[in-house]
Amino acid sequence: MHCECGYLLQGSERFCPDCGKRAAAPAPPASQTIPCPNTVQEGRRTQPCGNLIESTKRFCTECGWHVDPKAFMPGAAMCNGKMHNGELCDNIVTPNNRFCSECGEPPGRGPSSAAGKDPGDQYLRATKIYAV
Ligand SMILES: [Zn+2]
Ligand SMILES: [Zn+2]
Ligand SMILES: [Zn+2]
Repeated sequence: MHCECGYLLQGSERFCPDCGKRAAAPAPPASQTIPCPNTVQEGRRTQPCGNLIESTKRFCTECGWHVDPKAFMPGAAMCNGKMHNGELCDNIVTPNNRFCSECGEPPGRGPSSAAGKDPGDQYLRATKIYAV
């Protein structure tokens, strides 16, 4: 950090040894904004909420999701698994996770990657219906 006079201050120096000015306090970390990844609303799977949430906020203002700090990690997504008790898992998993710590499902079965399988499945069903 440079003083207004141009002197390069060390982190421990609270006053500039060159001009005596008080060193400015370090800026607080910038807040991040991501679309809310919550896919569980009222106990049902829905499209991701998508409401913009800030890392400084504790709850999504749109769906009331309790903001998980893990959601701000790159590649993070909401788990698409189910808990043993049948409840929808809303844990946040990242590509580094081999298995969800909540439900044990491997990540990557979220809505985005599952979309690759479903259309074919629906197509098969549709052709069956038309064949009848
Ligand atoms: Zn100075
Ligand atoms: Zn939300
Ligand atoms: Zn899970």
